[in-house]
Amino acid sequence: MEAIKSTDNEIYELIKLEEKRQFDKVRLIASENYVSSAVLQATGSVLTNKYSEGYAGKRYYEGQQIIDQVERLAIARAKELFGAEHVNVQPYSGSPANIAVYLAFLKPGDTILGMALPHGGHLTHGAKVSISGKYFKAESYALSRETGLIDYQAIRQQAMDCRPKIIIAGHSAYPRFIDFERFRAIADEVGALLMVDMAHFAGLVAGEAHPSPVPIADVVTTTTHKSLRGPRGAMILCKEEYAAAIDKAVFPGVQGGPHNNTTAAMAVAFKEASTKEFRDYTHRVVENAKTLAGTLMKHGFDLITGGSDNHLLLVDLTNKGIGGKAAAKALDAAGLVMNYNAVPFDPRKPNDPSGIRIGAAAVTSRGFKNGDMLQVGEWINDVISEPENERLIDEIAADIASFCKDFPPPGL
Ligand SMILES: *Cc1c(COP(=O)(O)O)cnc(C)c1O
Repeated sequence: MEAIKSTDNEIYELIKLEEKRQFDKVRLIASENYVSSAVLQATGSVLTNKYSEGYAGKRYYEGQQIIDQVERLAIARAKELFGAEHVNVQPYSGSPANIAVYLAFLKPGDTILGMALPHGGHLTHGAKVSISGKYFKAESYALSRETGLIDYQAIRQQAMDCRPKIIIAGHSAYPRFIDFERFRAIADEVGALLMVDMAHFAGLVAGEAHPSPVPIADVVTTTTHKSLRGPRGAMILCKEEYAAAIDKAVFPGVQGGPHNNTTAAMAVAFKEASTKEFRDYTHRVVENAKTLAGTLMKHGFDLITGGSDNHLLLVDLTNKGIGGKAAAKALDAAGLVMNYNAVPFDPRKPNDPSGIRIGAAAVTSRGFKNGDMLQVGEWINDVISEPENERLIDEIAADIASFCKDFPPPGL
């Protein structure tokens, strides 16, 4: 960090402060993680200096002797890790990856069917404010009002009625496994492509702690920076028959030159994700989420679907008499960082919904185990019991900062 310090002390200080925040707080945002020093170093490497529009062996600029090898390595590792026929590692992030899939298969005005945003779908699954909702006829499916679970029968009926070209499975806030075979059957019945967006749970898939959509779906998109613990980026995995359409849609359809430093960091992350250590990590993530779910339920918290199969929990705070935003702010002040989140059929406004979303991926990366998750549950309960007790919140923040000293995160 010496160069940043002497060139731009303001940014240096801010980076140091953020590093301290990431060290001293219990980070429970379900989409976040801590990458390794190796991933950080690749991200900060001179590969950022190179332009490489096109694909290995077919570039539009010279000087690709090394970059082609980097990209081929990232692709080979991703194919091996997920058992995919074809992989494109160039998408800048999860949102452009999804847009590229639509560009590959749809014309403006075509119908897509995805999970509704307030039920856990992503903006790019057809939300009205997103390009996916503006340029396409976006239909959305809801979760079951009784159980909070995906209602496959209702989705089948909806698909029969609206005849989508693409059905999207995947979420940002659903605490259970998805039955990819059921989605496959529905897509086949209505002649739709099945796209799975595994942005949140890709790491669990890599570690076999979650069923894999890769053999079942036509196209799978994912970010690489959530449970997969790589750099900010994304990739698209697909059947060989769609390879040319996907590659053309990413470049030149949506993007220009790939971010080669990110591609290298992805390759490093995929190597890490193929180890036994990572596999064990993903199973611990799931265990830790279950432990936290159990202790919160014991304290009377209302968990959507009554628990979790994956890395995240969705909590409806209605019975605790506090809104999601006030809760998330009080918890953050105490050193427990998470986000407010809508719950299915939420009667409150989207910018102050009824719930909070809690994820176990980041804390598990820094070594939290079962007993530590029980402690986290106690702290959450203490804060939510007295969210306006500033002295209590300061005490918990100090306890948490001291507790966190025993768990140095990767990369810091
Ligand atoms: C996070 C996420 C994305 C988008 O990722 P960005 O990198 O933030 O653009 C897409 N789909 C799902 C389901 C996500 O959770």
